[in-house]
Amino acid sequence: MFDQDHIAEAIAWRHDLHRHPELGFEEHRTSEMIAALLTGWGWRVHRGLAGTGVVAQMGQGAPVIGLRADIDALPIVEATGAAHASTIPGKMHACGHDGHAAMLLLAARQIAAEGVEQGTVTLIFQPAEESEGGARVMIEQGLFTQFPVDKVFGIHNWPGLAPGRFVARDDKMMAAFSVFDIEILGKGGHGAMPEQSDGVIAAAGRTAAALQEIPARALSPLEPGVVSVTQIHSGSAYNVCPDRAVLRGTCRWFGPEAGDIIEERVRRVATAEATAQGCTANIDYQRRYPATINSAPEAALARDVAAEMGLDTAMTGPSMASEDFAFMLNEVPGAYLWLGAAREGENPGLHSAKFDFNDAVLPAGAELWVRLARRATRG
Ligand SMILES: [Zn+2]
Ligand SMILES: [Zn+2]
Repeated sequence: MFDQDHIAEAIAWRHDLHRHPELGFEEHRTSEMIAALLTGWGWRVHRGLAGTGVVAQMGQGAPVIGLRADIDALPIVEATGAAHASTIPGKMHACGHDGHAAMLLLAARQIAAEGVEQGTVTLIFQPAEESEGGARVMIEQGLFTQFPVDKVFGIHNWPGLAPGRFVARDDKMMAAFSVFDIEILGKGGHGAMPEQSDGVIAAAGRTAAALQEIPARALSPLEPGVVSVTQIHSGSAYNVCPDRAVLRGTCRWFGPEAGDIIEERVRRVATAEATAQGCTANIDYQRRYPATINSAPEAALARDVAAEMGLDTAMTGPSMASEDFAFMLNEVPGAYLWLGAAREGENPGLHSAKFDFNDAVLPAGAELWVRLARRATRG
């Protein structure tokens, strides 16, 4: 579908973005580059939603299709050794959002060259997908009231699937998530005289074990759920029982009822285990993203388009990872799509310090966007 030199240019944009990663809501350079390219191709460009968001439109009237790419990087020290490695210490594109931006740009160039005869194509370059909820902020600031769309799609490169694979599930795609901080407080004392202090360490250990049992015992075996304790901080000496411990972690689920059960149990378990050891627990539990649930007709449309391209659309998943595209799917029918992007040999996963977007799948991702835009705007 694309000229070879256009593909080469898109890969060069991807490498340029990779060299200059920007964290959530700070994607100023990235946003500038995207807006400049789109303006040059004749798109009507709007900037400023969620600060660094870029929305661009071409065509007019109904139907209106929204195509979304996320653009933020992660606070990770890059270890790829690539020629285009990050030039900014402690920041890197370890989730492939550099590739997502370049894919949508390559598609945008092609769509502009072909012209939009009917309906409207709306491109959404979204900041801060990683934990900050840039999609939610764009929506709160009027994304879908200023730019109403009939359907919205998002694509993520998926290193767990081989190139040529493509997944658009009819319903559950990715899980909802929360984060928690549990502070356990009690009396500290001499390590040799445990009877003189409260069991802060015992409470922390028991809490960690009991929390991770919640999905197994509080949810139906047919209902997916995860509680992972990912941090425990306490103590500073061999012979001192500490007076404070902090546990942190994340929970994942799909159904709203499961989300309520998990939250209630986390609070109950932490409080009970602390109390049993003579301690108190301060619990800060925050729900972050809802579950990413596709609508079946839009998922079917995406599979149809992928099948036209010869991609294998066999179903797999869902994933217990989370995605803030969920906020867009709460507003508008649409689908979140995984594009197979595994590398031969060593294939580091998303968020690995060695992860680098697989440029070989960039043209397929862009072609998918162009074909989806054509199909969805022609009704
Ligand atoms: Zn990510
Ligand atoms: Zn990502």
